[in-house]
Amino acid sequence: MIVLKNFRIIDKNTDSFGTVIIEDGVIKEVIAESDDGLDYVLNEKKIEYYCLEARLVIDGRNYIHPEIPYEQSLLPVLMPAFVDLHTHFRDPGFPEKETLESACLAAAAGGYGTVVCMANTKPVHDSIEKIAALKKRSDALGFIDLYPAMSLTKNMEGRELSEITKLPPYTESPSPLLPRLLSEDGKDIAGDVLFIAAMREAKRSGLPLSCHCDFGGEEVEKLKKEGKPRSLWSRIEENNATQRVIELNKETGCKLHIAHVSTKEALEMIRRAKKEDICLSAEVSPHHIGCTEEDAGRLGDESFGRVNPPLRSEEDRQALVNATLDGTIDAIATDHAPHSQSDKEAGAPGFSGLETAFPLCYTELVLKNNMDLRRLSALMSMAPAGILGFGGNDPRGRGRIAPGLKADLIIADLRKKTTVDPETFRSRGKNSPFTGRELRGQILVNINHGRIVYEA
Ligand SMILES: [Zn+2]
Repeated sequence: MIVLKNFRIIDKNTDSFGTVIIEDGVIKEVIAESDDGLDYVLNEKKIEYYCLEARLVIDGRNYIHPEIPYEQSLLPVLMPAFVDLHTHFRDPGFPEKETLESACLAAAAGGYGTVVCMANTKPVHDSIEKIAALKKRSDALGFIDLYPAMSLTKNMEGRELSEITKLPPYTESPSPLLPRLLSEDGKDIAGDVLFIAAMREAKRSGLPLSCHCDFGGEEVEKLKKEGKPRSLWSRIEENNATQRVIELNKETGCKLHIAHVSTKEALEMIRRAKKEDICLSAEVSPHHIGCTEEDAGRLGDESFGRVNPPLRSEEDRQALVNATLDGTIDAIATDHAPHSQSDKEAGAPGFSGLETAFPLCYTELVLKNNMDLRRLSALMSMAPAGILGFGGNDPRGRGRIAPGLKADLIIADLRKKTTVDPETFRSRGKNSPFTGRELRGQILVNINHGRIVYEA
């Protein structure tokens, strides 16, 4: 048993002081502090009893510097561990960029408990066997719960469906070795017929299908040929592709998920589709919330500032922030995409994002845009957990702090300021658009299934 006492407990529904009891990897009890005198005394007695039984007691008060006079508002927060719908672990195939071990360590340090990694490895994760093998390797490391995504087509060649055709139909408790999300990652399937067939398999298996929305059709090919700037054609590409997948899903009704939305027009399409009751969810990446095309220019548009989709205008950035507040965006996903220095120099797109996501989102959304911390917890934990089918009240359920759920929790100090230095990253990818930026909020402890897997 572990007792976590004197914390500010945050999840989608809660913001109160209290104590959490963990037993056998599951949250056993949440004891909220009470104003009522009698309840208060009873709670204190109960906590005292649990502390005697526990093998570990973590007291939030111990994180307050002994020279600072105690105040409840100084206590660290206890939140559900984060759930990331979109990362690149590069394993197998690209150890110069990342390995399973370095990626899992980075995820644990970033406060993540459950992570989906994309299938664009070497070989591509296009079969049940390959996915089970990676999952088993990650489980053996024991830092996080990894769910490798399955590609839609064999070897991501866009010609023939992958083993998505062999996935069992949706059940309440699927094998833990099966994928939880399907995605062709940075490629949409060009042909409508094959794309619809993939969507039908997604519908049959009940799994979310994450679309990167980067097939812009003939219009974009023409602009590219004319030598128009990336900022122009990539915007049209994302907008056309978003419209296309929404239209295709009217026929198939799968759980469509739109990855890393970056334009205000795409947001508008998602907003409208949600009103029309089309089954879809959407994510935004921290770098699109925290950076603009000016940052990309400063870092190098075609090198260290390059990412897909590109960093956009300040107007887009504001629209994305507003969409996280008004519910158009469901989840924050890092799109952690580590590369070696030489690959970045040569223009490989993507940033290392696992270890900066929380402080960046806390600083940008909560501190600068008055987002309620409960809303941020929903965006980073409850909503993505629900998309992966972990929204239930059983021991596999996660993303909230409630009795009976998996004990995936983090402790964070919201007042702590840090300056982003990629040299301190556990990830092998040292490229961040936030280098040198001062952010607030530090992950102190990450608890996965009731075990401490990271301590700052
Ligand atoms: Zn990706």
